[in-house]
Amino acid sequence: MTVNLLDFDLKGLTVFCANLGEKSFRATQLFRWIHQKGATDFEQMTDLAKPLRSKLALTAHLQSLKIIGQQESADGTIKWLFDVGAGDAVEAVFIPEENRGTLCISSQAGCAVGCRFCSTGHQGFSRNLTTGEIIAQLWFAEHFLRKHLSSKERVISNVVMMGMGEPLQNYSALLPALRTMLDDHGYGLSRRRVTVSTSGVVPMIDRLGADCPVALAVSLHAPNDALRSNLVPLNQKYPIEELMSACRRYLEYAPRDFITFEYCMLEGVNDQVEHAEQLVELMKQQSILGLSCKFNLIPFNPFPESGLLCSSKAQVAVFAKILINAGLVTTIRKTRGDDIDAACGQLAGEVMDRTRVGARIEKQRTIKITPVQDIRRDRVDIPASIQH
Ligand code: SAH
Ligand code: SF4
Repeated sequence: MTVNLLDFDLKGLTVFCANLGEKSFRATQLFRWIHQKGATDFEQMTDLAKPLRSKLALTAHLQSLKIIGQQESADGTIKWLFDVGAGDAVEAVFIPEENRGTLCISSQAGCAVGCRFCSTGHQGFSRNLTTGEIIAQLWFAEHFLRKHLSSKERVISNVVMMGMGEPLQNYSALLPALRTMLDDHGYGLSRRRVTVSTSGVVPMIDRLGADCPVALAVSLHAPNDALRSNLVPLNQKYPIEELMSACRRYLEYAPRDFITFEYCMLEGVNDQVEHAEQLVELMKQQSILGLSCKFNLIPFNPFPESGLLCSSKAQVAVFAKILINAGLVTTIRKTRGDDIDAACGQLAGEVMDRTRVGARIEKQRTIKITPVQDIRRDRVDIPASIQH
């Protein structure tokens, strides 16, 4: 069995090369070939000596993911489905915007947290993705898009861990993947433009802050423990008070001076005036304790098994107004890729159905890529339009 080099961050690759008797700068060269140039074959790596290329061919390989579906929305959003074996599939979604390109990627096949409004949660946990499988989503998407846009520049400027799975329940695989995204010899993404979204795995929020602080999004969805425990079962283990303390601690390390809270709008469940008022009260207390935050209200993407409905636009507006009037920075997330179900929660169910029955997305659409214009490096904020 040879080693998949996508499983390594630069440090890991340096150790691997040292074991082959190679100096660390060779690891850097190799890392750049893989991630910056998208090389798929050691023979392409012309500035590596032939004996090294031969050694690599004997001991290592570059294992991308098998694509089983690719669809583009009328708005330019592209969704890929990747086969990760044993009937499991995961998805990644590219969202082009005027001045940035965001890739939403998955961390697990299924998810053990089991949130009521999430289709991935409903399907249960299958397995953790490896580092190689996490980074392969970016590796594939970046080089695919560059080729099709005939771009020499980077196309993906932002990564959000908002696909399938709970990234902080797959921490050991997540960490080298994040480091590869940030590495100047890898994708060179800014810490502010890499976002880990979590349902609130408190001890791992602290670990992330210490090991690799990136932007943090916390899926809150409710203003009190009773309701949150009902929607996000992990709340029973890590209730809101503990979660908020972890968020405050995280801010000491975070590349941004606020935490983004995500709040999925569920009709009659968590979208009432009283919920907004409770949320304002909660955040007032947190603000006194030093927590700065922003709110992202996400329109729920319904799926039949959930038995839940999306709040009306009017109700979302009422809710948002209460938050805004209380001084909370609040955005209502735009929906993207509706016509291809490029919704993380929505998609997962579809993936499962298709893979479980062994079917494949049969009719591929012709891919039309919308150029991502003028990706500027200095813009700082979470993609307002990422679709769930
Ligand atoms: N497990 C992590 C990251 C993946 S889910 C987390 O929960 O944060 C990414 C986001 O999509 C979360 O905020 C989640 O609550 C939201 N989400 C899941 N299913 C959804 C659905 N059906 N409609 C809208 N948002 C959904
Ligand atoms: Fe898992 Fe996130 Fe879905 Fe909850 S919302 S089940 S944590 S993927």
